[in-house]
Amino acid sequence: MGTAESYQRVRATRHRARYPPLSMPDPSHAQRPAATAPGHASPAPRPILTAELLAVGTELTVGETTDTNSGTLARSLVAHGVTVGRVSNLPDDRAVVVEAIRLALTRADLVLTTGGLGPTPDDLTRESVAEVCGESVTVDQEILAWLQGLWARRRLPFPGTNVKQAWVIPSATVLPNGNGTAPGWWVDRPDGRVIVTLPGPPRELGPMWEGEVLPRLAARGVGVDSEVRTLRLTGIGESQVAELLGEALLRAPNPSVATYARHEAVDVRVSARAEAGQSAAALADEAEAAVLAVLGDHVWARGDTSWAGALGDVLAERGWTLATTERDTRGALVSLLRTLDRLPFAEVVNDPEGPASDQVAEAERVRAQAGTDVGLAIRGTPARGEMRVDIGIATPGGTHRDRKLALLRGSQGADRAAIAATSVLLAHLRATKP
Ligand code: AMP
Ligand code: MG
Repeated sequence: MGTAESYQRVRATRHRARYPPLSMPDPSHAQRPAATAPGHASPAPRPILTAELLAVGTELTVGETTDTNSGTLARSLVAHGVTVGRVSNLPDDRAVVVEAIRLALTRADLVLTTGGLGPTPDDLTRESVAEVCGESVTVDQEILAWLQGLWARRRLPFPGTNVKQAWVIPSATVLPNGNGTAPGWWVDRPDGRVIVTLPGPPRELGPMWEGEVLPRLAARGVGVDSEVRTLRLTGIGESQVAELLGEALLRAPNPSVATYARHEAVDVRVSARAEAGQSAAALADEAEAAVLAVLGDHVWARGDTSWAGALGDVLAERGWTLATTERDTRGALVSLLRTLDRLPFAEVVNDPEGPASDQVAEAERVRAQAGTDVGLAIRGTPARGEMRVDIGIATPGGTHRDRKLALLRGSQGADRAAIAATSVLLAHLRATKP
């Protein structure tokens, strides 16, 4: 992405800005190469292969805020073939932050900080980076004028504390913030390593990462050819998955195969890096084929597809809509499918003492009542600490009946029951071609 484009992106997000109207500093300023400090050799070209993430903020280390930024950045870095060696949460303590950055710089090509760029005295990331670099901060007049303009437009006096958000050091390039008052820094170290500081609020961090940092990393040469594939499994536990995959596959470093038990699925993640003349994709293909050979029947989706997403795709292919009715499952089904836009009607009934009901008849009833193409009816029944789920499906092609056992009770049993029913519906729809 070019300079002008990334600036356009920032401007395009203006309507979401917290401080309207937001006019960014002159992009030529923001993009200009860092003024080289006396005695600084120009940075050696060093590919970015490894990174460490430092999330700064006492709210993280006291457990009041969950660090989502590191996940966002790690996922993106890994997708670009960068190995993330460590992820740390640090308090707003300058000595701790300085030590962490120094140490990270001994190991990683890229050190990314998030947080600590606010205007208040507890936000110390700028000071810490300046100390690590042995440089002094100065006030950048253009950023200061931009900040002052933000307050002037709201007819408010400019608070003196915010001056520190205009601070720069000689080796820093300023990363404009289109969604807040905290610009980030891109800092080139003499040995070619890079420190990047990003603001803490996720809605500020995301656009800055995408619009400012990734293009610079790409220009720099980032990562290695790599490939990640996730297969989502249902109807099987993680330990059984691991057993079927076998130790040889699970312990191999490249391609690597790992299992993750999640709420919605057991995920098998295949990740490969180009090696010995073989592309990452070719290596991933091999590993994926080995996984599919033993577990293919359990795969219901790929990547980060949700149940609602997978079902939505199948319904959309056929141009169909769905109505559901669920009894004694605490609304778990509608909760699982809440993002499904092909679900115009969903009924939740709580009646554990009520009369027996036939789920296929219920599915036909709800389908007729809502005027949809497909009806799904489920009923949960507690069974010896587990939950039995009776499932009825009605489609233009006919009906289907099934019964599954969720190996948990209570709300978790209900969640599993909803997943089991959705899985049955998905398989049934897929088996009947449009
Ligand atoms: P700061 O840049 O330190 O002023 O961050 C301001 C706000 O960003 C914090 O109060 C949090 O709400 C949010 N925040 C900071 N760090 C993180 C993080 N690692 N993950 C998610 N949110 C964060
Ligand atoms: Mg903070």
